Amino acid sequence: MQNLKPILAYVNPVYCYYVIFYYVSIFLAPVLGIESVWQVCWNTIRECLGDDIDVYTVWFMNIYTIAIYWIFGLAIIAMEKFEIPKNFKSYQIRTKPSEIEQGDNYYKVTRDVLRNQLLAFAVSVLINKFDKNSLGLKITPEVPSFYITMRDLMICLLLQETLFYYCHRTLHHRKFYWLHKKHHEFTSPASITAEYCGVTEHFVCNLFPVVIGLKIFGSHYTTALLFWTSIIITTLIDHSGYNLLHFHSPEVHMHHHTKLVNYFLFECHLMLVYIIYRFNVNYASKFLSQLNGTYYEESVKKEKVDS
Ligand SMILES: [Zn+2]
Ligand SMILES: [Zn+2]
Repeated sequence: MQNLKPILAYVNPVYCYYVIFYYVSIFLAPVLGIESVWQVCWNTIRECLGDDIDVYTVWFMNIYTIAIYWIFGLAIIAMEKFEIPKNFKSYQIRTKPSEIEQGDNYYKVTRDVLRNQLLAFAVSVLINKFDKNSLGLKITPEVPSFYITMRDLMICLLLQETLFYYCHRTLHHRKFYWLHKKHHEFTSPASITAEYCGVTEHFVCNLFPVVIGLKIFGSHYTTALLFWTSIIITTLIDHSGYNLLHFHSPEVHMHHHTKLVNYFLFECHLMLVYIIYRFNVNYASKFLSQLNGTYYEESVKKEKVDS
């Protein structure tokens, strides 16, 4: 188990929680006297949103993702401040206090994150004027099967990881680092600094990788909601300084902020690397470390730009 630790640090359990919730819902459905918990949830959303496609593809999509970001982000900060639950600090992996508490950083982060989110909102309103449902999401009355949902989530995650990895790695090249420097102002970040970055980085690195897979595969709207929820929660925790999800350790990304190494390659790549190395944990973790820039720290140091 001990030598699995470097591998488990890259596993995101949000999808495991989806699987657990699905099987719990199978047992729950007959107790509640309904056919499917997921279908009832989707029916309720459809009753609230009505038939106007704009409400789904522009208004609900943006308001939902912005709300999730701020509700979870601020909840983590409040839990830290008021120590709720009492043992909250035992999950801490941060080695020094976050700079969010210094000066007017709360104001600065809120202003710039909201600017990025509202700009994305405005762009989606504009695109929707020319192309309704530009992401091509299915908004049918029936929810897709669990197998189809998980298949789409995995494909979208693989694409998101790959695109994010190469976009992020490019932003660390000395020619482009000025676009990314803002995000690295925090060497000890807090949850709500996850989207604290320039506008170009937000659109290219954060948004493009999370929508392209859904567009290519024409996934169902409910799959998109699950996918965005998992991405937002994971990225908030990655910046929080607390190991709240188990397995998937924010240590990996915290290390990126303090040392400018560790470029993020997670679940899907982990599985591929693991299979390629025929389940040899040592080789697999060594290869992952190379990709993430932690194995050859000395050579990476030579390449890294001045922060
Ligand atoms: Zn970076
Ligand atoms: Zn970051």
